[in-house]
Amino acid sequence: MRSRFIKQIGIEGQLRIYWDRIRAKEVYPDGYISTEWLDDCPCSYGRQGSKGYHNAYTPLGHKLDTEDFDCFGQPEEYPSERWPTKCEHCGQPVPQEIRPAKVGDEGIEVNRQVFTSRLYNTASGKPEPGDLYWIKDHEPGACHNWDGCNGMHLHGIGPNGDMWDVDGRASNCSMRTDRAHRCWVRTGSPEDGSIHVDKNGHTCAAGAGSVILGNWHGFLHHGEWHT
Ligand SMILES: [Zn+2]
Ligand SMILES: [Zn+2]
Ligand SMILES: [Zn+2]
Repeated sequence: MRSRFIKQIGIEGQLRIYWDRIRAKEVYPDGYISTEWLDDCPCSYGRQGSKGYHNAYTPLGHKLDTEDFDCFGQPEEYPSERWPTKCEHCGQPVPQEIRPAKVGDEGIEVNRQVFTSRLYNTASGKPEPGDLYWIKDHEPGACHNWDGCNGMHLHGIGPNGDMWDVDGRASNCSMRTDRAHRCWVRTGSPEDGSIHVDKNGHTCAAGAGSVILGNWHGFLHHGEWHT
């Protein structure tokens, strides 16, 4: 599969509600009540028999030429009629919140958020299989793994749809405390399709430059994803 370079072009916004039945576990001296979530939704994430919390979104559209995750504002700014009315997995109507008063009481917790994500120049607006894109992972010099990292990490979406941080550390890295090497050495550029990832440089003993993404195991060589 040929790689494709994509770019962020804005921010996508959604109003999100998620909720669950809860049970009070402990009341603290200051009155705070800790709760457990009871996984009331029978098909959370759309999977029958997969229990979890209820969840729903309504789209707010796109804002172009911004990277500001707050550009859609705060939940209080949206009137009640804009919000989802039922769970998108099981159809349960959004309930009223009920706070439990004492240990053992059941209740309902409802959370509302303005949910924002990066918008890309693809048909779906999201990164798609085969795509490569830059992400600002951190400020320059503040890398979790490496010295001398400018903060821009190359991410790729493998043919199976799973994401790879090419500038991350391999799970089987053999030099776990070393901050000078790279587990994957990249040359060329993703923009013009010459990107090539292998072990040709200061690197560790992990793998042969390949990546394992769930059920997919392969390489990114000369702009091409292959097994
Ligand atoms: Zn549900
Ligand atoms: Zn970094
Ligand atoms: Zn390594």
